Amino acid sequence: MTQLPTAEQMDAWWMPFTANRAFKASPRFYTAAEGMYMTMGDGRKVLDTNAGLWCCNAGHGRKEIADAVHAQLLEMDYGNPFSYGHAKGFELANRLVEDVAPKGLNRVFFTNSGSESVDTALKIARQYWRLKGQGTKTAFVARVKAYHGVNWGGVSLAGLTGNRKSFGQGLEADFLRHTLLPENAFSRGLPAKGAELADELNDIIAMRDASNIAAVIVEPVAGAGGVIVPPEGYLQKLRAICDQHNILLIFDEVIAAYGRTGAATMADKVGVIPDMITTAKGLTNGAVPMGAVFCKQEIYDTFVNTGEMSAVPEFLHGYTYSAHPIACAAALATLDIYKSEQLFKRCDEIAPYWEAGIHSLKGIKGVKDIRNFGLLAGIDLPPGVAGKVAAKTLDKGVTVRPAGDTIVMSPPLIIEQSHIDTIVNVLQDTIPEVD
Ligand code: PMP
Repeated sequence: MTQLPTAEQMDAWWMPFTANRAFKASPRFYTAAEGMYMTMGDGRKVLDTNAGLWCCNAGHGRKEIADAVHAQLLEMDYGNPFSYGHAKGFELANRLVEDVAPKGLNRVFFTNSGSESVDTALKIARQYWRLKGQGTKTAFVARVKAYHGVNWGGVSLAGLTGNRKSFGQGLEADFLRHTLLPENAFSRGLPAKGAELADELNDIIAMRDASNIAAVIVEPVAGAGGVIVPPEGYLQKLRAICDQHNILLIFDEVIAAYGRTGAATMADKVGVIPDMITTAKGLTNGAVPMGAVFCKQEIYDTFVNTGEMSAVPEFLHGYTYSAHPIACAAALATLDIYKSEQLFKRCDEIAPYWEAGIHSLKGIKGVKDIRNFGLLAGIDLPPGVAGKVAAKTLDKGVTVRPAGDTIVMSPPLIIEQSHIDTIVNVLQDTIPEVD
């Protein structure tokens, strides 16, 4: 059994996205994780409806990943990735192009997190336009309620104002409205109304001029903002407007990729192919930090084919741990699991049961909206209620995540019907108690 820290031993760790004082007054610990369950500090096992933090898509504690990491550590723990390659990096990039990235996005840049993937994609976009002789294209368009990580680029484009407002001036950005419309309340899958919200991009272009805009970035299905599912046709419209005005389109699929929507990417699921896709989380099943940016061939070609061949790197960007061999080993083992257990297809198969279960909560006092897509769901509750519901469900053996006034869920793709029944029953009991 893990020895839990005493109050005095909890001083040094400045915890992320945590109310540190409140935590110390009432700490919560995880001590172990396996399959669909987390073990709490008091030894209780709780059903994990969030796949950790939207990342452990194949469930917790996968031995195949542990073995691959262990073997890789013994073979080569680390190698400088600047101007040196290694077999696992190339193998993983090839596998991602073959098994995950949509057709045409066949170049992969490795990072260590979703935030780094976002900032990498933004830098690629700006340099791309400079290389094309259009260096005035530097501005970005993002969306209200978006979450794009916590690095400078992602924070500037954050549509969750709380994550931005303490940090002062960032990158220049304009914001599209979010797509949560009251008339779509309780819709299942893609909502029917609201594709025309994408037309606001034309207004921004009219104001800024396309000659100043580098890229539009959106989560094709927004996660942290409360599981916001795009209206039918909305992403197609964004794609068409970007094409018309020569603006890059970036999908931030840090949550959506690797099976969460029943396909390798949301881009493939809805048949809208952006110019770049940012990913992380499910890439290594959450076991080792890693991210990847998928790029169109033409973007890569613009970088590497401009000017004469020389010893100067074309993109002066990268991380000490880009394509870290341990992360590559974990990712390859993860992709093997996704393939052998056909988890993306499995998500698609169980999603209707998930949808029916979650929507059966309609009518419970206080439930204002329910949204779902793939193995994602969001339940809107009155102000201040979601956090209390989460605390109570935890007592009853189910961990759910409050995001503002929404309960958000993204269970491992190995979820069974019986787990869904448990989640629905516990929420059904708990929401009225709190409301
Ligand atoms: N983009 C999106 C859409 C995300 O959901 C997240 C994390 N929840 C990030 C970026 C940032 O990822 P990370 O926390 O790995 O930096």
